[in-house]
Amino acid sequence: MADKNVYFFGNGKADGNSTMRQLLGGKGSNLAEMTNLGVPVPPGFTITTEVCKSYYDNNKQYPAGLQAEINENIKKMESAMGAKFSDKENPLLVSVRSGAAVSLPGMMDTVLNLGLNDVTVEGLAKKTGNERFAWDSYRRFIQMFSDVVMGVDSDQYEHAIDAMKKKRNVKLDTELSAADLKELVSEFKAIVQKSAGEMFPSDPIVQLQKSINAVFGSWNNDRAITYRKINDIRGLIGTAVNVQAMVFGNMGETSGTGVAFTRNPATGENLIYGEFLMNAQGEDVVAGVRTPETIDKLEKVMPAAYKQFMTLSDSLEKHFKEMQDMEFTIQEGKLYFLQTRTGKRTAAAALRIAVEMASEGLIDEKTAVLRIDANQLDQLLHPMFDPKAPRQVIAKGLNASPGAAVGKVVFSAEDAVHLKEMGEKTILVRVETSPEDIAGMDAAQGILTARGGATSHAAVVARGMGKCCVAGCSEINIDYKAKKFQAGSVTVKEHDFISLDGTSGEVMLGQVKTTTAELSGNFSLLMKWTDKYKRLKVRTNGDTPKDAETARKFGAEGIGLCRTEHMFFEGNRIEAVREMILADDKAGREKALAKLLPMQKGDFLAIFKAMEGYPVTIRLLDPPLHEFLPTKESDIEALSKDMGVSVDKLKKRVSALHEFNPMLGHRGCRLGITFPEIYDMQVKAIIQAAIEIKQSGKDIIPEIMIPLVGHVKELSILKENAIKIIDAEMAAAKVKLEYMIGTMIEVPRAAITADEIAKEAEFFSFGTNDLTQMTCGFSRDDSGSFLPEYVDKGIYERDPFQALDQTGVGEMMKIAIEKGRKVRPKIKLGICGEHGGEPSSVEFCHSIGLDYVSCSPFRVPIARLVAAQAVLKEQK
Ligand code: PEP
Ligand code: MG
Repeated sequence: MADKNVYFFGNGKADGNSTMRQLLGGKGSNLAEMTNLGVPVPPGFTITTEVCKSYYDNNKQYPAGLQAEINENIKKMESAMGAKFSDKENPLLVSVRSGAAVSLPGMMDTVLNLGLNDVTVEGLAKKTGNERFAWDSYRRFIQMFSDVVMGVDSDQYEHAIDAMKKKRNVKLDTELSAADLKELVSEFKAIVQKSAGEMFPSDPIVQLQKSINAVFGSWNNDRAITYRKINDIRGLIGTAVNVQAMVFGNMGETSGTGVAFTRNPATGENLIYGEFLMNAQGEDVVAGVRTPETIDKLEKVMPAAYKQFMTLSDSLEKHFKEMQDMEFTIQEGKLYFLQTRTGKRTAAAALRIAVEMASEGLIDEKTAVLRIDANQLDQLLHPMFDPKAPRQVIAKGLNASPGAAVGKVVFSAEDAVHLKEMGEKTILVRVETSPEDIAGMDAAQGILTARGGATSHAAVVARGMGKCCVAGCSEINIDYKAKKFQAGSVTVKEHDFISLDGTSGEVMLGQVKTTTAELSGNFSLLMKWTDKYKRLKVRTNGDTPKDAETARKFGAEGIGLCRTEHMFFEGNRIEAVREMILADDKAGREKALAKLLPMQKGDFLAIFKAMEGYPVTIRLLDPPLHEFLPTKESDIEALSKDMGVSVDKLKKRVSALHEFNPMLGHRGCRLGITFPEIYDMQVKAIIQAAIEIKQSGKDIIPEIMIPLVGHVKELSILKENAIKIIDAEMAAAKVKLEYMIGTMIEVPRAAITADEIAKEAEFFSFGTNDLTQMTCGFSRDDSGSFLPEYVDKGIYERDPFQALDQTGVGEMMKIAIEKGRKVRPKIKLGICGEHGGEPSSVEFCHSIGLDYVSCSPFRVPIARLVAAQAVLKEQK
């Protein structure tokens, strides 16, 4: 526990610094750091995240003495500003903002202009010589405070403003006079009284107490909870609260406010990127209500402030050695920084920034590797628009977040969520987005807004999510009521397809063709760096030569799982497979299998070639046979015609193969035990293909993998059968071949008898899909109906089929490793369940000493990165 609850910053000195992020939050610790660096920051104080935790732990009671600490810090702030709370002449006004250790942009509450009341508003007017500004600030404060703190619906204020504009016969808010605004303040207060059943508080200390409560309260609002969930943000104890003296960007034409990044957050280009609005408050820029100007234009408007801003932003990046996202305000020509933080960026920008910062010497290669968020890399591995595909461009907006998105147009977040549940892809089209739209933005493929700039809510959130976004597309006219938008002469209705190019900002009609991604440039360079550090090998799960080629391009070092059954569905092979299944006896099955042999051999040959001498693990048939038979009446009839077998016989066979619980039924090695001829054919095909490779002068060590073993005797029987076939093939070809026979560990019994199994198995590959199913007792097919609720309730922190359950399934793996190594110290160990490409699981696999992970081709770069990061984190 920290020795105090409140930390001051101001007058060039702060109680905290940037290393105190957990305690002061990102915003608070960086405000302290900036103050210490001499950057102009309005003074203020930070109430710690520990106070937030204690507030929730103690039934919303604050630690004793907190108010005294706050009062003491208010005094310090008053003296730094030469202003006072409640002062008639020179009133102190403050902002109250949240700030956790990890930023949740826009998700929690903020109160601005706090300290205004009927007395101080006059003081502000006198001090600034701007009566209109003072009354406008007051009405904004009532609006924001009563919304955030008292739960008053702010639509009512908008109606009141509209009515006033009508009465005065004007169009813009800015055309309302000080007297009009004064009248509105009275109306606003009446609205508060009526809606909340109490008066608007006039005492600044009460205003502050209530605002602090609201900000701590917003830590657990729905938006913040959803944001943490979507972004997998865990382990935070709460938010800090920052109370800071207000500076005003809306005090006239020499005032303004803006947001800027030290490098381009969409592309990574080393060029300042941002926007500003003159005569505006910070929220106006982020809310996207008025479209701001790009930052370079500030040079003309306010040359001195621009120059100072550029120098300071550059020094902040050099100091933090990271791309910064900054908020600033210019009050009557004087520049203030209100915030600096590590800027959110797309995966492409992250790679470019990391690689370029390393080449600039700002960071080293290891830091560059650690900088990349493995979960984010996924964005670059998704399809992009085929450059050759025709495009019908109907509008162009701001290229706010890159990527290619194709989907059906929806106009509300709810519709995006709803259509996703029905398996549909959507593009969310909004005039602008707000934090309420977060779930819909997550559900949509891409986001298109008519208003707002490159730092609007839509742009910032989309970039954080790695979603394609075209923002501020003023060429489109949205009609929410009629559920359509107009782009020039083209009308696009709800559920029409459009395509968004987040890199060019183009909006296209219809579904533009996409192509697969590849590793090149910065991506491929950073991946080469990962190979210098990682210990784990990364293989791929691939069933076809095409998978193998894709995975090689992504840097796979072999195949960890080739599911041979997928080959059974290729072309017209399924006919031979069905003939085999429906045969009455062994001879009939062998006849059908003989037809499959050359096809399987051809597949293996192609895969061995694509893998260029890297190891290839081929798993013998696993799924229950009924999966290959038709279920629909019409399909059964067609099959009966094709095969010349009666419908009746076919149906009998299908029903004989029916199982109540096929996942625990006649599958895996149980098929090999009962129908040995199937595995015999597969082993023959593998060995014949390997012999051909060897004869062509290339190296290959095939690894034959037996699935679903639970008892060592299953393995010893099947291994003996396989060796007989292999010996016969080698003798016939007069070739001596190295090979391995091993097993999957996916049945708990196999894990806990791994010492017995290791006597037979030369390698273990953890099949964590089945091992999770059988260890947790969750059906792979049926757990979708309750697991999400389990995760919501925190019973499991993550879906154990996605992120390895380290305490349960992971423990099972550790037991198997320990027992296996006792018998066969050099036993090769890998994982081939879906977890092999999930970052937290890959890190775990590194920590328990596996030799390799195997994952789908598109996750190979992710696994390579995590494998390297795991080593670098250990070194730290
Ligand atoms: C597993 O169970 O983890 C596995 C890789 O096999 P499958 O998913 O094919 O059952
Ligand atoms: Mg399995």
